[in-house]
Amino acid sequence: METKALTGKFYDIQGFSVHDGPGIRLTLFMKGCPLRCPWCHSPESQAFPTELNWMEIKCVGIEKCGNCLKVCPHGAISPGGKKKSLTGDDEITLVTVDRSKCDNCGKCAEACTSKALYMCGTDYTLDEIMERVRRDVPFFKKSGGGVTVSGGECLWQPEFLLEILKKCKEEGIHTAVDTTGYAKWEVIEPLLPYTDLFLLDIKGIDPELHKRVVGVPNELILENARKIAKAGGKFQIRIPTIPMYNDSVKAFDDMGKFIVELGDAVEVVQLLPYHNLGTVKWERLQRSAPILEATPPSDELMQARKKQLEDLGLNVIIH
Ligand code: SF4
Ligand code: SF4
Repeated sequence: METKALTGKFYDIQGFSVHDGPGIRLTLFMKGCPLRCPWCHSPESQAFPTELNWMEIKCVGIEKCGNCLKVCPHGAISPGGKKKSLTGDDEITLVTVDRSKCDNCGKCAEACTSKALYMCGTDYTLDEIMERVRRDVPFFKKSGGGVTVSGGECLWQPEFLLEILKKCKEEGIHTAVDTTGYAKWEVIEPLLPYTDLFLLDIKGIDPELHKRVVGVPNELILENARKIAKAGGKFQIRIPTIPMYNDSVKAFDDMGKFIVELGDAVEVVQLLPYHNLGTVKWERLQRSAPILEATPPSDELMQARKKQLEDLGLNVIIH
């Protein structure tokens, strides 16, 4: 009997990335995440299944097309709002998707030649992923780069993640795992021999606040960070700096002290100032806007928080 090849589900693959580890990286974004950060700028990464996205700007209107209405087997698509055509001469009728009826079958996306409707989430076998990885090996060699497996939360597809890392190391490619750290230690431990660098998010130390805002407690994350450090793993720690959540002197003091505890395992701390550029992606999923809509932190505040961590002896950059 033929055995089915193991596959991983990805929502994006980006070459020439320069912010996800050393050198030029190929970043593989796996789909699915157990956290629900209200500032998430990749909401399409959160759900585990492949799902329908809708980009209004690309729709040519049901007067000229309407393919999606004809093919949906569940009647989930109906005429929606009006907007001016690109020339501004006509008004066109857009469509609307009733998510309670949609089962993400993808038939409308197949029929939508203008790609206004598209499915997010593609399954790849290890051979397919490695074929893509090998195309970028010359850039890795020139720049000291490699592969970064990110998400969503890549630790939640552990078997496939491990296979990618093993294969990359077999082929002499630098590996980084970009993670929230929220997974059982039994998932993380087997990755250690094949992971050159962990890009680990630290979003806050207060456990109650972390659970309330992000949706999961942080004890496991902090414990995993300590265990990785003890086992000889290396970190680039990332702090998404979020107004009204973790941008205070006290929050940075707590996070800084925790990071110092990790000792030489920490190569650099990267501060990621909150931005709201992901709002449009929430609209494509027709979900309500992220809970958090805030003004990005000022340069002065970012510089002050950077200095605060540097004063604790940490090597800090602002992305
Ligand atoms: S993905 Fe399938 S069920 Fe959902 S709107 Fe499209 S055709 Fe209908
Ligand atoms: S198939 Fe695509 S372009 Fe055509 S009406 Fe539907 S969403 Fe718009």
